[in-house]
Amino acid sequence: MAGSMLSIGECMVELMQAEGDMLRKGYAGDTFNTAYYARLFLPTDWSVDYFTAVGTDIVSSEMLAFIENTGIGTGHIRRIEGLMPGLYMIHLKEGERSFSYWRSASAAKLLAEDPERLRAAIEASDVVFFSGITLAILAANTVETLLTELRRARASGKRVVFDPNIRPRLWGEPARMRATLEAGARAANLVMPSFDDEAAHFGDESVEATIDRYRALGVEDVAVKDGARGVTLHFTGEERVHVPAVAAAVVDTTSAGDSFNGAFLARLAAGDSPAEAAAFAVRVAAAVIGHHGALIRRDKLVPDHIL
Ligand code: ADP
Repeated sequence: MAGSMLSIGECMVELMQAEGDMLRKGYAGDTFNTAYYARLFLPTDWSVDYFTAVGTDIVSSEMLAFIENTGIGTGHIRRIEGLMPGLYMIHLKEGERSFSYWRSASAAKLLAEDPERLRAAIEASDVVFFSGITLAILAANTVETLLTELRRARASGKRVVFDPNIRPRLWGEPARMRATLEAGARAANLVMPSFDDEAAHFGDESVEATIDRYRALGVEDVAVKDGARGVTLHFTGEERVHVPAVAAAVVDTTSAGDSFNGAFLARLAAGDSPAEAAAFAVRVAAAVIGHHGALIRRDKLVPDHIL
C-alpha cells in the first residue's frame, strides 16, 4: 500500500580529507542517512521527505539539490535568509577518524520555529522519524513545539519512530539530556536505541533492561541495536526476538545504525513482520560498514549481502 515517510532533523555539509590538503564535499546527518536508506529500500509508491531548515545561500541550494537527487522530497524544507547549514570535517589519522563541527549557528536549529509548516509536513506522512540529535540541536523552547506535533501524530495513528542517538556533547547538562530523550521516547510508538549508548547514559545492564525501560515509558515497540550482536525486538503482540547480525568485513562503521533504521522501516512499511524486516536490515548494515562513508550506493550494497 502506498504511503509516505518524513524524517526530521539536521543534514550537514561533510568535508572529508581526500589527498593531502584536498577535501571532498558530501552531505550527511543521522536523520538524513536514515531517510536515504529508507528511500533505497521502500517500494516505489512510497514517498520520502526530509524536514529541516536551511538558508537561502549557495551551499543550502546545493544541499537541497543533492537531497532531491537521492529521490527524497524537499518541499517542506524551510529556507531562512541569512543562515547556512552546519558543517563538519572528518580527519583521518592512521586510519582513525575524528570530527570537527561548525554547527552552532546552523539553520536547522530553527526547524521547529514554524509550527504550521511542521504540522502540515507531519500530517501528510504515515511514518515520522526523528532522533535525539534532532532534539539536541533545537533551541530549548522549540523542543516542546516539535514534541507536541509528534504526540498529535502518534495519537492519530501514525507510526512515530525515535532513535535516541545519544551525543552528550550536544546536550550539556546530563539531567536535561535524559529528561528530553525520555520525552522524545514518550512521543513515539517505536524506539530504536543503540545498546552501548543506553548502557553508558541510562545505566542499563542488558538489552532486556533497555527494552523494559522504554516499555515502562509507554512505548509500544522497541528495537535495540547492539553492534556485532545484532538487534532485539519487542513488538506489541509478538514474542521478544533476537535477530543476530551477519558477519561483516568492517571498513567504516559510520551509518551502521542509520542504515539499519532506514532498511528496517522500509521493510516494515512494505508489510514485512518485524523479524523479517530486521533480518533484512542487519544485512544492509553489514554491507554498509564494508564501505567508506555514510551514504553507500545501492549497486554497491546489493550483490554481497542483500539479494
Ligand atoms: P549505531 O551505529 O547506532 O551505534 P550499532 O553499532 O548498534 O548502531 O549497529 C547497528 C546495526 O549494524 C547492528 O544492529 C548490526 O546489525 C550492524 N552492525 C554493527 N556493527 C557490526 C559488526 N561489527 N558486524 C556486523 N554487523 C554490525
